[in-house]
Amino acid sequence: MMQKVLSTRRLEELKVKIFTNAPVKTIDYGTVHRVILKDGQAFEAHAVILAVGGKSVPHTGSTGDGYAWAEKAGHTVTELYPTEVPLISSEEFIKNKTLQGLSLRDVALSVMNPKGKPLITHKMDMIFTHFGISGPAVLRCSQFVVKAMKKWNLKQVTMKLDALPDQNPEELFQTIHKRIKEEPKRAIKNSLKGLLPERYLHFLLDRAEIDGSDQGAILSNEKIRAFTSLCKEFTFTVNGTLPLEKAFVTGGGVSVKEIHPKEMSSKLMDGLYFCGEILDIHGYTGGYNITSALVTGRLAGLNAAKYSLEKKY
Ligand SMILES: Cc1cc2nc3c(=O)[nH]c(=O)nc-3n(C[C@H](O)[C@H](O)[C@H](O)COP(=O)(O)OP(=O)(O)OC[C@H]3O[C@@H](n4cnc5c(N)ncnc54)[C@H](O)[C@@H]3O)c2cc1C
Repeated sequence: MMQKVLSTRRLEELKVKIFTNAPVKTIDYGTVHRVILKDGQAFEAHAVILAVGGKSVPHTGSTGDGYAWAEKAGHTVTELYPTEVPLISSEEFIKNKTLQGLSLRDVALSVMNPKGKPLITHKMDMIFTHFGISGPAVLRCSQFVVKAMKKWNLKQVTMKLDALPDQNPEELFQTIHKRIKEEPKRAIKNSLKGLLPERYLHFLLDRAEIDGSDQGAILSNEKIRAFTSLCKEFTFTVNGTLPLEKAFVTGGGVSVKEIHPKEMSSKLMDGLYFCGEILDIHGYTGGYNITSALVTGRLAGLNAAKYSLEKKY
């Protein structure tokens, strides 16, 4: 069905007023709801939509005001937590900024459970920062870190980084072995040039206790295997996330159990509708949250208008 978009003129004819830059203080619910602005003005409406977003990045205007208004109407707000958020780490190499600013492309980053099994793996880019790690793979992994810490009451979570995910360990060992042994007089770090970004290559050679300026001839197969393992499975711990204010998305929110999904209307308060990030719905960055906000917004808008017209006439 094609929806008709009303022009500003038509809205004026219908005596519809549009207010922008009008911060809302609270909502008083009743047979007719009252929306009270911070400047003291109040408006009455049969239907109200809470579309005020979550609590992350408050300078965008979304400061979490809507949760109190939802609770006022009897709704449950599930625990809020940061998601799509950088991770912090107190590993020595993070504290002494060894890798700060280094970005890795198309790596496979995994969040491990306490038994050492991956909870999730994302193959994307990432970056080391002064506080920990960030970048697309990290943002996607972050909600699993938050949930693991909560579920198992952990102070730290192990991450596994596979810097060369397209080669299996044996193939990689053979590649590295060939490069080093084909030119036995060459310095190891030069034979391995281009295998990984230079800073990361030197970092992993150090970790494997290999002196990169040694000649390849003296390097044992055991050392090459140890280095290969680090390329495939460098493990380190993270201790949490940056705060909710720094997260791209707010996890948790108004419980969807209390909302009619076909209308986005409240099951607890007539004429109350919800959409977007205020709800306990979140997805990965890449458009999923925006899509969810648009889809639920359209549903809430159409149904709130219908409800209002039915009440009015
Ligand atoms: C930097 C950044 C990058 C992001 N990148 C992505 C991405 O790549 N992909 C993705 O899917 N999602 C992304 N997101 C998340 C996505 O933008 C949100 O999930 C989505 O915008 C939520 O839409 P919303 O309408 O529910 O809330 P919002 O877009 O937050 O809009 C809420 C509006 O309500 C207003 N408001 C709040 N309180 C009051 C009040 N008291 N009175 C009046 N008005 C009020 C706010 O000013 C704001 O205009 C990103 C978020 C941020 C911050």
